[in-house]
Amino acid sequence: MWTKPYGKTGKNVSVIGFGGMRFAQPADLDGSAELVHYAHSKGINYLDTAPFYCDDKSEEIMGRAIRGMKRESFFISTKSMAATGDELRAGLDRSLKRLGVQRIDFFHIWCLLQPNKLQERIDGGAIAAALRAKEEGLITHLVVSTHLNGADNAAVLASGLFEGITIGYNALNFPFRGQTLDAAQQYQVGVVTMNPLGGGLIPRNAERLAFLKGPQDRDVVQAAIRFNVSQPAITCALVGFANKAEVDQAVAAVENFTPYPPEHIERVKANIGANFEGFCTGCGYCLPCPADLQIPKLMDAFNQRILDGKDEAMTDRLKWHWGIGPDAAAACVECGDCETACTQHLPIRERLRTIAAFAQK
Ligand code: SF4
Ligand code: SF4
Repeated sequence: MWTKPYGKTGKNVSVIGFGGMRFAQPADLDGSAELVHYAHSKGINYLDTAPFYCDDKSEEIMGRAIRGMKRESFFISTKSMAATGDELRAGLDRSLKRLGVQRIDFFHIWCLLQPNKLQERIDGGAIAAALRAKEEGLITHLVVSTHLNGADNAAVLASGLFEGITIGYNALNFPFRGQTLDAAQQYQVGVVTMNPLGGGLIPRNAERLAFLKGPQDRDVVQAAIRFNVSQPAITCALVGFANKAEVDQAVAAVENFTPYPPEHIERVKANIGANFEGFCTGCGYCLPCPADLQIPKLMDAFNQRILDGKDEAMTDRLKWHWGIGPDAAAACVECGDCETACTQHLPIRERLRTIAAFAQK
């Protein structure tokens, strides 16, 4: 497995990381832990988890898996979105216990959704508590996970608090976060990417996105993973595995692979260009909606409209894939909460109006 240095930490991390948020049957702790073992046997040494993932089972699964592994053969990453020092410490203690380790290798200040959130974590005492835990040896590297745009991420890294950053980054949303990579290189911090396959959007639209493929790529999944890891600033791409075949597919993407040169990356970016901005990645941070709208499903259907350039692509997706009609969008009461929370800063209300108009047709 190809590894890269994670910033200035001195750690070499596999370019494919195990994203512990998509276990197919999280209640099956042993079966899920076995999948982690399988990925580890293929050279994946960065294991990412968090409280609440997979019905709050993910940390438990990872803990069960790593108890059978040599401690120096993996890096465990988990997270806290606590604002106060006491809450952060309680969460950290719980994570250590569930994972069965003495220290967390990469501990994330988790889910900065708006630029002011870092200041809130500082004011609330969460950052100070994390730094104290680092001094005590409970955290090896303090890192951050955000859904901010590139400029805001650059400001987060300029704080000097973090040795790495985890961001959603893929061949479709790169314009929104590109500046993060420049800042990461400037400050020499590691970058872990979530959602390299655009929440499944890329494989689902393989034909339309065929131009992502370079000469060495067998399919768009390979192309999308390679688009990520070819970039010098990106250390590791997290893939949320549900089965062994998905592990094999991701591992094959980086085996015997020579990173694409900058010209290829730039060609792919130029191809995608402005036409493919504004995709919903299905992250679900816009929920809950006070009117109970299933926003990610409705926005996924809107993605199809952008990709195919046809209204029917959207209405068909709603009807045949999600089993809902365009009238569902009309229930929006325009409170705007979803747009404040949206990690991709999408004009959700405007899109819902567009969808709702098809209820009349
Ligand atoms: S703006 Fe509409 S869709 Fe968004 S949270 Fe409010 S009611 Fe729900
Ligand atoms: S609308 Fe925004 S917050 Fe909601 S799932 Fe899509 S990208 Fe995520």
